[in-house]
Amino acid sequence: MNLILMGLPGAGKGTQAEKIVDTYDIPHISTGDMFRAAMKNETALGLEAKSYIDKGALVPDDVTNGIVKERLAEPDTDKGFLLDGFPRTLDQAEALDKMLKELNKEIDAVIDIHVEEEILVERLAGRFICRTCGATYHKIFNPPTVEGTCDRCGGHDFYQREDDKPETVKNRLAVNIKSSAPILDFYKAKNVLHTIDGNRDIDAVFSEVKQIIEKR
Ligand code: ADP
Ligand code: ADP
Ligand code: ZN
Repeated sequence: MNLILMGLPGAGKGTQAEKIVDTYDIPHISTGDMFRAAMKNETALGLEAKSYIDKGALVPDDVTNGIVKERLAEPDTDKGFLLDGFPRTLDQAEALDKMLKELNKEIDAVIDIHVEEEILVERLAGRFICRTCGATYHKIFNPPTVEGTCDRCGGHDFYQREDDKPETVKNRLAVNIKSSAPILDFYKAKNVLHTIDGNRDIDAVFSEVKQIIEKR
């Protein structure tokens, strides 16, 4: 099962991705997570990505396509994979098509999580993340069961993303709205696009995600 999760920043891609990979046992390929890991380790890739991410801009396509190509060449993707946050431009969607052809693979479903803009802003403002395992929480909508303790790994160290501050969020939303429209058309034409209403609670969204996956 080769899947793509789409949706604007804050739509719930990371949250649904955690549930999908736990349920279906496929690797989670998040370009955002890969860039954050590179920034933390201060690699050349991380330093380059940081200059874009801090402004809420997209990292250039050739850089992003390169890291995805390397990741998809790893053998654990043979059982399927979940792409989260990629492709984000039409150039990336076309590059992905080419990579997959070379690997003799194809995308089974693209799940686009649609959420109203005012809600996205609220979600990003309250988002925080476990530093140990990367699990995503929300101060109001999705706090850990025991305050201060990660449900997934028991960790106690959390952080807020630098790019979730209101000034950056506005630019990220604008950039992503513009770049995502042609990608949705691209996958619609291939008959693999499923749009779901992401304005509902996490479990309601996940049950629709499961229905789509299980129909394939
Ligand atoms: P979110 O969907 O919450 O905005 P991500 O973690 O997917 O966040 O991405 C964070 C940032 O990393 C983006 O704002 C962008 O700068 C960069 N990034 C992630 N994926 C891509 C991509 N496919 N192309 C270009 N830049 C990307
Ligand atoms: P994305 O990866 O698309 O940027 P996240 O999965 O990180 O989005 O979710 C953004 C924020 O909204 C997080 O704080 C998360 O806990 C919260 N969230 C995710 N899905 C929902 C939902 N269906 N209802 C309410 N809050 C949600
Ligand atoms: Zn954790």
